[in-house]
Amino acid sequence: MPETRVRFAPSPTGPLHIGGVRTALYNYLFAKKHGGKMILRIEDTDQTRFVPGAEAYIIESLAWCGIHFDEGISEGGPHAPYRQSDRRLLYAQYSEQLIKSGNAYYAFDTPDELEQLRKEAEAGKQTFIYNSLSRKSLRNSLTIPAAEVESLIAGETPYVVRFLVPENSEVVMDDIIRGRVVVKTETLDDKVLYKSDGLPTYHLANIVDDHLMEISHVIRGEEWLPSLPLHVLLYKAFGWEAPQFAHLPLLLKPDGNGKLSKRDGDRLGFPVFPMQWQDPKTGEISSGYRESGYYPDAFVNMLALLGWNPGTEQEIFSMEELIQAFSLERVGKAGSKFDPEKTKWFNHQYLINKANEQLAAEFITFVSLRNISTDPAYVLKIIPLVKERVSFVKDLWEETFFFFEAPQSYDVQVVQKRWKQETPAQMTALALVLESIEPFDTAHIDEAIKQWIEASGFGMGAIMNALRLLLVGTSKGPHLGDIMAIIGKQESLKRIQTGLHAIK
Ligand code: GLU
Repeated sequence: MPETRVRFAPSPTGPLHIGGVRTALYNYLFAKKHGGKMILRIEDTDQTRFVPGAEAYIIESLAWCGIHFDEGISEGGPHAPYRQSDRRLLYAQYSEQLIKSGNAYYAFDTPDELEQLRKEAEAGKQTFIYNSLSRKSLRNSLTIPAAEVESLIAGETPYVVRFLVPENSEVVMDDIIRGRVVVKTETLDDKVLYKSDGLPTYHLANIVDDHLMEISHVIRGEEWLPSLPLHVLLYKAFGWEAPQFAHLPLLLKPDGNGKLSKRDGDRLGFPVFPMQWQDPKTGEISSGYRESGYYPDAFVNMLALLGWNPGTEQEIFSMEELIQAFSLERVGKAGSKFDPEKTKWFNHQYLINKANEQLAAEFITFVSLRNISTDPAYVLKIIPLVKERVSFVKDLWEETFFFFEAPQSYDVQVVQKRWKQETPAQMTALALVLESIEPFDTAHIDEAIKQWIEASGFGMGAIMNALRLLLVGTSKGPHLGDIMAIIGKQESLKRIQTGLHAIK
């Protein structure tokens, strides 16, 4: 069996959309599953769409996701260089080869002429296509005598090289996900392969490089499906064996139909990029999963299940498990709706499964940002009490602020509801009980309060809600016995005294 070799071939035209990350991920899983190689090729032949910083962004994003390359622009490899602009000299000969073999031709039609034809067609409610019918009456090497073609080229008349789509035949394509697809060549246009500025178009460079880099499987987004007939015809024209193809379904909007776009993210408040991106032209900042506090393994796990299913109920997969379980046969044809809530759920699952020590270390940075000094052992006691309540470490503050500072105010609604006429006397009595507890740990606190409530005949709810208000300032927070044990006896009593003065 020949080696499995796949590639991720982004164009550096901007930040990588999460759909692109998923494409890279599926390539990676497939390569690793089959003991093959994963290649990063940068397709930057369209200079007009080049965006500075995009290439570095793509590389950093994939590294953050744990998607690694065996060959690529940073790794090098037997087929270097891996950036198409560094391979530009290579493509001319392939374009010539197709002209010589009668599979391509020179076309001299100017952009203005083509625009005119387009307009005329439109006026007659038609679409202009440069194809087997129209090419016979246009300015190209099929209609112009050979000597004239030579002199036009020698005279540096701008030209393009177009692929000659065979007349009246069918292209049969096999896609691992979609099965067999057949199209009639009349529906195809003679795409430009090469321009006289010395640069190939995407189609030519892509096929030449996939061939030279010995790519065995092309796994890419569904948006490239319309290019597949041309690609299959190009392989045929070169006399090369085509790789196997798999076109991945689209990622769809969470609501309604259509492709997930940056606008959906802005509208519904979630990132569509793996990392934050600043547009070099406008300065506009787009949020990223990394900066929003997502764990890369949670993000990757979520993406893996958007289009692929393991055929079991399992939802949590490490990268290793994904590699073991992945197969293209279990990638669906239909688009997958992106679900921002489920994405948070994945992060929550990963968060609660992290070691408390790690969460404490991460959370301390957020605490320090508030100029509060604390120590890891103290934070470590808090984490297990609250981690189930959050999806992001940054949200832990909302659940724990009262461990670090006494209430500055008391929730008005809770006061109205919980603070009765008899409450101050009850709290004063309870403070005496608390003072006598030794050791001041959760078990002893709980037991003493329980006994006191039973003996006094007060309602458990009334007492505990009022006490919580004094200690926390609201009605939220974990078990009160735990809170008091952690903040300590002195601090608990102090908060009760302060609250008794403040709440009227
Ligand atoms: N350069 C193309 C892109 O930006 C690659 C498509 C393919 O994988 O063939 O997506």
